[in-house]
Amino acid sequence: MSEQHLRPSPISATVDFEAEGVQHGFLRLPYSRDDSAWGSVMIPITVIKNGEGPTALLTGGNHGDEYEGPIALFDLARTLGPDAMTGRVIIVPAMNYPAFTAGTRTSPIDKGNMNRSFPGRPDGTVTEKIADYFQRELLPLADIVLDFHSGGKTLDFLPFCAAHILPDKEQEARAFELVKAFGAPWSMKMLEIDAVGMYDTAAEEMGKVFITTELGGGGTATARSAGIAKRGVRNVLRAAGILKGAVETSKTEWLDMPDGDCFAFAEETGLVEFLADLGEVVQRGSVIARIHPTGRTGAEPVEIHARMDGIFTARHYPGLIKAGDCCAVLAIPV
Ligand SMILES: [Zn+2]
Repeated sequence: MSEQHLRPSPISATVDFEAEGVQHGFLRLPYSRDDSAWGSVMIPITVIKNGEGPTALLTGGNHGDEYEGPIALFDLARTLGPDAMTGRVIIVPAMNYPAFTAGTRTSPIDKGNMNRSFPGRPDGTVTEKIADYFQRELLPLADIVLDFHSGGKTLDFLPFCAAHILPDKEQEARAFELVKAFGAPWSMKMLEIDAVGMYDTAAEEMGKVFITTELGGGGTATARSAGIAKRGVRNVLRAAGILKGAVETSKTEWLDMPDGDCFAFAEETGLVEFLADLGEVVQRGSVIARIHPTGRTGAEPVEIHARMDGIFTARHYPGLIKAGDCCAVLAIPV
């Protein structure tokens, strides 16, 4: 551990993590700025505790333009009472709060991408300070961690809950049990493009049972995707033995992302036309999308081909695409 990590976090919690009952409060991060000389970023947090039992850490708004998690978690924080549970639930509906209030993926203060900022720094940027607080204060309290994601403004996903393949097979099996309990229409063995700096990796390396989601996208939530999130989080708490009652079982289709052939990236900039929709089966070599040049008429579109057989799982959003953007993601039914 480097010396900087021995400094205390500048964040103070207005809640007591050991107190019984329900507390709604804040993680207060001092942030001196033009419109507030001694101001703070106030990140909403709820702690609900009833006796001894496991602790669940539930987060949304890791990316500020993904909405199913915040909808489900503001709802849960408002409605979950200690009598319905045993143990402790810590809810942070909007982890990167400055990004969430701006409606952007990254923080408007420092352009920090929360899910590339771990383990963070107590003396770093605002985003790094939040990451450091989760790394050193909140993750160590948790037994299970659920971090909600969706596609945000530039991706759209089939609704799935996911966990990663891990070196510790017992930890991996416990995570996939929670994925199953979440009960999204699809369940994923997820491969990351770039796992460095992720909250996921920080939690997993600490031995926590970590699950995540991708529940839609386009910078909004639908009635269906919000419903999946609200039901899923309660199912996870039931499966963890925290919330009383049985898991509401439902049919889920398991998907696997075996390797980098899952991803198709745009190599041109232009107008994207998809030739398949999410959930459709596509064959290796088939054209998933065309990118039409927009500078002149009469030019041929560039075709994006599937690099494997699979289910069309995620797509670029909205209609214009740039070279380097993730155009399509495929996954294999298990
Ligand atoms: Zn995200």
